[in-house]
This record gives sequence, C-alpha cells and structure tokens, in this order.
Amino acid sequence: MSRSARPLRARIHLDAIRHNYRRAQSLAPHSRALAVVKADAYGHGAVAVARALTGEADGFAVACVEEALELRESGIRGPMLLLEGVFSPDEIALVDRAGLAMVVHCREQLDWVLAARPSRRLDCWIKLDTGMHRLGFCPSEFAEVNARLAACPHVGERVAMTHFARADEPDHPYTSVQIDAFERALNGARIGRSLANSAAVLAWPQTHGDWTRPGIMLYGVSPFAGTGSNANLEAGELRPAMTLESALIAIRDLKAGEPIGYGGRFVCERPTRIGVAAIGYADGYPRQARDGTPIAVGGRPTRLIGRVSMDLITLDLTGLETARPGDPVELWGRTVPAAAVAEASDTIAYQLFTAIGRRVSRRYE
Ligand code: PLP
Repeated sequence: MSRSARPLRARIHLDAIRHNYRRAQSLAPHSRALAVVKADAYGHGAVAVARALTGEADGFAVACVEEALELRESGIRGPMLLLEGVFSPDEIALVDRAGLAMVVHCREQLDWVLAARPSRRLDCWIKLDTGMHRLGFCPSEFAEVNARLAACPHVGERVAMTHFARADEPDHPYTSVQIDAFERALNGARIGRSLANSAAVLAWPQTHGDWTRPGIMLYGVSPFAGTGSNANLEAGELRPAMTLESALIAIRDLKAGEPIGYGGRFVCERPTRIGVAAIGYADGYPRQARDGTPIAVGGRPTRLIGRVSMDLITLDLTGLETARPGDPVELWGRTVPAAAVAEASDTIAYQLFTAIGRRVSRRYE
C-alpha cells in the first residue's frame, strides 16, 4: 500500500475476476481452465488474483519461473504452467521443487528435460507452431518429440498445445488453418490438447480441448473490442476487474483561443472550463491518448483534451459545472471501458493494464 496521498489508485474487483473465470469455465464446460496470471496478472496483482481464484481455478499459467515462485511462496497450490518453459537447464531443479509444469517449445528445452534428474515426474506441454511463427516445434516434429518424451521415465503428463495469432478475428480463416495444422500434427495421438486463449474460448468452441488458457477475459475485457464482431455479445457478459481512479486537483476557466498543455495540441474554441487530474504517462496512462479519449468525472462521461503529461492530464468540464476539486476521475473501469481508452490511444487494453506504474497503489475489493 502506498503512503502517498496523491489520489491515484487501481481498484481491483476480485468478485469480477471470479465471475469472469466462471464465465470462461461455463463457455467450455468440458475443459479445465488455466487462469493466465502472467505479467502480475496483467497488472492486477498475481498473488491477489490467484488467491481470489483459489478453490475455483483448475490451475494457473505464468510466463517464467520467477512468476511461479512468487505464487508458490504465497501459498498458491495446484497446476501451474510456465508458458515459456525454462531459459536454462538449471531452472529445471526449481520446476521440480515447486511442482510446476513447463512448456517445451524447442530442441534445447527438450534436451534439458531429457537429461534432467528430477525428484518427481515433470509435466510437459509440447508447443507446436501452427502459424504464429514465434515459439514452438514444427508440426512435422510432433510425433518424434512426443515419442521421446513419452519414453522418458521422468516425464509425467504430456499436453500438446498451440497459440493462435488471429482468434480475435472470428471471420478470418487463419484460425481454422491453425486448428487443421494442429490436428494433422497430432494425427489422432492420445494426448491432452490446449489451444484456446480468451478469443477462442469465446468464439471458437471447437478449440476448447482439455485445457483452455483464458487471460484478458478474466480481467473483463473483450478480445474483440473494436472489431465489430458478434462474438462481442458473449464478451458483454464480462465484468471490468479494474477501475483506475484519480481525482480533480485543479479547475481552470480558459478563454476561446487558449491552448492547453505541451505543444498546445488542443485550442479552446469557446470559453471552456477544464479539470486537471493527478495521473500521467509515468503512471501508465497512455501518452498517445487523443483528444476525445473517454473519461468520467463523478460518474459522468467527458473527454480528455490536451496532451498527456508525465504526472497530469487535462479534461473537458463542459456540462459538468458542478465538478469540484477532489471529485473522482475514472480513467477506465465500470463507466469508461478500458478497451475504449485503448482504441483512442492506438493500443490494446493488455498494454494499458501492464503499463501501470509504481506510483499507483492497488486496492482490492
Ligand atoms: N496462452 C498463451 C501461450 C499466451 O501467451 C497468452 C497471452 O498472451 C494466453 C494464453 C492468454 O491470451 P489472452 O489474454 O488473449 O486470453
């Protein structure tokens, strides 16, 4: 908890995260769901989120050993997958001790696993590159990799997995191409399957398999935001998990023709009352946010005007004449969708959440 009195906080709605996780489960009722809590649970606080999901989540997915150990040291048990596997053979001892499952996406990792002498069986998720062209074995390598892991006495459960590049475009054929490549590679192999991120949980039921891996939907954001997709209807059931909130710290009355802030990007067309709120790009509010980016003051919608500074933003108080210094300003949350702020800033909500700075205290409710 920050001791700063600067009126800036991220309120995290743990009940919304539980609701969104249940939604992911109910959309894929025959699958288990790994809650993706990498990158500090997309900026929401991995330990608090995992604790809130304890007893509900079938397991958790993180990027790397450090993230997994933070959760284990906080008492989080159950299946936990390293989405990038390990970065050196030494880390396998940590995987072993912490009872983690690891992705195996390349020859080096395969050799490290086969050469390891763990105290218990290691669960390995074989990652196939079916079209993302980032991490993973070629589909043609699957049979051999799977056979070598199957023959290894210290390898436990094996799951075949892949990751989609365009699942957030439900009308685009690329996801079907990836699904076909995956199934052709497996060639009927009796092995667990995991393909679905949030977009696929929502829009590609044929990909649900044995384990889904929802991330952004847990935090209440539709992966289809801004795409005009019908799949957005399903995503409408999600609840925002974060309210980023500051307060008005000054109110100014400007004359017609007066510019606001650095570069004078916004020039008042008429006498304009503006508010100044204590948040800036150093706190994670996007500097690219355009004039007109939605904001709410005291629950009432308005817009950003003027360039975002390091510690401050300026906003339009036209029509909000009763606003006073100290009034709450919602940057995103239940009134202002994070996805709308992202769209007005040429980014995605994933980046907004993970860019929140150290000066922002989190309050769990
Ligand atoms: N699976 C993998 C391998 C990922 O890298 C990610 C996130 O990037 C996810 C699942 C979750 O994706 P999303 O947040 O879009 O649901």
